[in-house]
Amino acid sequence: MQTSTRSGLLLKRSLAAVWHPCTQMKQHESLPLVPVARGAGCWLYDFDGRRYLDAISSWWVNLFGHCNPRINAALRDQLDRLEHVLLAGFSHEPVVELSERLARATGGALGHCFYASDGASAVEIALKMSFHHWRNCGRPAKSGFVSLAGSYHGETLGALAVSDVALFKDTYAPLLMRSSQVMSPDWRLAEKGESARDYAVRCAGALERHLERHHEETAALIVEPLVQGAGGMAMHDAEYLRRARAICDRHSVHLIADEIMTGFGHTGTFFAHEQAGITPDFLCLSKGLTGGYLPLSVVMTRDPVYRAFYDDAVSRGFLHSHSYTGNALACRAALATLDLFEQERVLEANRLKSARLTAAARAISQHPRVRQFRNTGMVWAFEVDTRDELFAHRFFARALERELLLRPLGNTVYFMPPYVIGEDETALLVARTAELLDAAD
Ligand SMILES: *Cc1c(COP(=O)(O)O)cnc(C)c1O
Repeated sequence: MQTSTRSGLLLKRSLAAVWHPCTQMKQHESLPLVPVARGAGCWLYDFDGRRYLDAISSWWVNLFGHCNPRINAALRDQLDRLEHVLLAGFSHEPVVELSERLARATGGALGHCFYASDGASAVEIALKMSFHHWRNCGRPAKSGFVSLAGSYHGETLGALAVSDVALFKDTYAPLLMRSSQVMSPDWRLAEKGESARDYAVRCAGALERHLERHHEETAALIVEPLVQGAGGMAMHDAEYLRRARAICDRHSVHLIADEIMTGFGHTGTFFAHEQAGITPDFLCLSKGLTGGYLPLSVVMTRDPVYRAFYDDAVSRGFLHSHSYTGNALACRAALATLDLFEQERVLEANRLKSARLTAAARAISQHPRVRQFRNTGMVWAFEVDTRDELFAHRFFARALERELLLRPLGNTVYFMPPYVIGEDETALLVARTAELLDAAD
């Protein structure tokens, strides 16, 4: 690719001064690093007039396109009122309104919002809060956590401890608290002839047996409802969540729904857990919360948990804080995002878009190299049959040449485009992905 001097210089300076996330920096000796000058809608533009369709919403955060005029306007307005104030001893309008509206989005069931700045911190908060709740209730032995095989909950030490992705976890294993993993209801693991639902029921049975033995030392089960994201876009039947809820109730174990990825319409409903008709004890949200604009996360919980901390003793209160807790600008971006959901009837519109992309993707789902094509709401994924050990890197690089930002997880290619994706862009995404599959090694 031809690059201008400006762009070339920026690349060099980035590689020298910026340690990029989730990256073996040495690979950038051969892999492109893309300098982005600006964004608009689904597109990112570099300095040389090239464009890239952001088919993964910049790591699953962007909902309504880059530089969305309505979110931009809300932020400009907020900027001239209040950028930030500490949330201990102080409060402000955006954080109050956001908490009330999020609570309403859970039908009032999760009426207490605790804020942080990123997804992993929300998971840390949910784990600490669950443990502390049981301690305040005189059950300090309930200190362990259960998660699903192949789950991903973030990369700080507590979140990593309940994750199960070897690449991220193995190196740091000596630093991590112990946790238990139970069978994932990922329908790809079903026996031949076994339906996704039957398999979900079988996995729930395994969870039940685990908790029968370990409930006295277990504080919570943490799950990514319906789609396990970073572990490889594994999808499961909602029946698992219904049963997990009942099993957790029977054994006095909290259910933490990590909807950092699945929240805000990604699975077709506003929250994924709605499809099971359940309410978790803790709901972790981040990523799409601000429409992909600013770092913000929240843990929402129910009254009984909140009340277990409400006391004269400071040490029975929840002992946790982040400097930027409830940042006013981030909360305002989140409010603008919620406005867009309401005013544009996004969930309804997405049903059409989802059906349209699925229909258009027939060339992909029936491609001879494609296995287990799957879709939940606005998430699509499939495995590519390849012997190329560097498949993910090569596919990423070749996709860029075809104006696509796609970042496979191992051999799993997925689409998670911003909701503003249009018909032409959908057609382009599908057609060029099919070309990439034809050309793959
Ligand atoms: C991304 C993600 C996290 C971590 O969020 P960060 O903001 O990257 O720390 C946690 N859980 C799930 C399900 C995620 O997809």
